[in-house]
Amino acid sequence: MARPRVVVVGGGFAGLTALRRLERRIPRGRAELVLITPNDYMLYQPLLPQVASGLLTPQSIAVSLHRQLRQTHMVPGAAVGVDTASRTVVVRKISGEYGYERYDRLVLAPGGNTRVFDIPGLIEYGRGNKNLAEAVYLRDHVLAQLELANATDDQAERDERCTFIVVGGGYTGVETAASLELLCEEACRLYPGLGGHINWHLVDIAPRLMPELGERLGDSAMNLLRRRGIEVALGVSVREVTQDKVTLTDDRVLPCRTLIWTAGTSPSPLIGSTGLPTERGKLKVGADLSVPGHPEVFGLGDSAAVPDLSKDEEGALCPPTAQHASRQGPVAADNVIASLLDRPLTEYRHKDRGLLVDLSGRDAVARPLGREVTGLPALALTRAYHMWALPSGPGRARVAANWGIRALLGGEVSRLGFLNRTIDTLVDTEERSQYLAPEQAREKASLVLGD
Ligand SMILES: Cc1cc2nc3c(=O)[nH]c(=O)nc-3n(C[C@H](O)[C@H](O)[C@H](O)COP(=O)(O)OP(=O)(O)OC[C@H]3O[C@@H](n4cnc5c(N)ncnc54)[C@H](O)[C@@H]3O)c2cc1C
Repeated sequence: MARPRVVVVGGGFAGLTALRRLERRIPRGRAELVLITPNDYMLYQPLLPQVASGLLTPQSIAVSLHRQLRQTHMVPGAAVGVDTASRTVVVRKISGEYGYERYDRLVLAPGGNTRVFDIPGLIEYGRGNKNLAEAVYLRDHVLAQLELANATDDQAERDERCTFIVVGGGYTGVETAASLELLCEEACRLYPGLGGHINWHLVDIAPRLMPELGERLGDSAMNLLRRRGIEVALGVSVREVTQDKVTLTDDRVLPCRTLIWTAGTSPSPLIGSTGLPTERGKLKVGADLSVPGHPEVFGLGDSAAVPDLSKDEEGALCPPTAQHASRQGPVAADNVIASLLDRPLTEYRHKDRGLLVDLSGRDAVARPLGREVTGLPALALTRAYHMWALPSGPGRARVAANWGIRALLGGEVSRLGFLNRTIDTLVDTEERSQYLAPEQAREKASLVLGD
């Protein structure tokens, strides 16, 4: 093969780490590296709750891909279809036009969307916290509720606006609830009319919060949240959402205008549209990250069903975490190179290093390498970890400066003015309907290829 073309879809933890390894290992000019990405940044999602609360500015966690990848050709758009027969990816560029990228090796790492269920009103009224737009809008929305509640004498409206429900007891839901509750506490000092009557609820259908933490640490996180006034309801989900109320499965009807939905992730719709084999909706891959029957295609990160070889259980899959995605990247890159050179592939194997959960203020819980840590030591560990893991010097400096400013001068609770714009609910922020079925991708690809 003269000059192989390696196309990577998605510049998140998995795609970026794969490309960085490819750039390092392949001598300049010996292969063409292409990244298809709708955004020119890699989003450091673990700190999104701190953007939602305004502790961090959005730029702090948006890592410039152009700065990180100097030998990769970047295509600004979303991969919306794959024709495996002609080895072509159909791209919908950010301009709305279609483009086409031929590949010799394809690395699929488009991550996932917020997982939603068929609950009446959920996608019309629910809000997510999985991308920068959602985090920034969420903060504006929460502050707007407090402001409007402060300005009205109608008690029913006040109750609706001052009740916030987060669904999902994983780290995303817990950190989002904790950080926004603290934002409300700060805002309340400026809105004396509210009298501090703000109700935060965290609900999850599972019997425990963050089961990965273990029973004792999970219980300490729950007790901490309850001490902060967040009502935690386990074994409970949502039956219906309307503009001004939420009905829970335990038959409670809560007046509420803010439902934050963080109940897991589902793989990008691109995966289902490709016609490639799937497992539990994710791209099916072997332990070497290649797709069975398609040795030229690799999958990794949240959108791939990567076998977890560190567990004895049959069929165990790696959980959807940054920890796994960023370690799978270099293995995928090494295997792309090995497959081009006809060499044997290596298997991905990584034992979970634990979980760090920032509960805002001075609270945190952590389980590094199986040890249980709480309070300030856990907070110090959590922050040190983010400083190490955030792959950008300017980003680290911004995050540290933001933390310092908050510690010394306190928080800022003014809105940025996004209220009344219509792109802030789950139905608006994730473009779920743009993907093409294999025959549509083939038809579009054949137009350009002329077959
Ligand atoms: C609020 C929050 C907190 C979290 N906290 C932690 C934590 O503390 N620890 C931890 O380990 N994990 C955490 N995670 C999970 C972690 O962020 C994900 O597991 C990780 O981002 C997965 O990496 P990925 O590369 O597979 O996907 P992503 O990082 O989501 O990247 C996918 C990329 O693909 C792009 N893309 C999507 N569709 C297309 C398309 N059609 N074409 C081209 N590009 C596309 C996206 O724009 C994105 O840039 C958290 C997640 C969230 C939301």
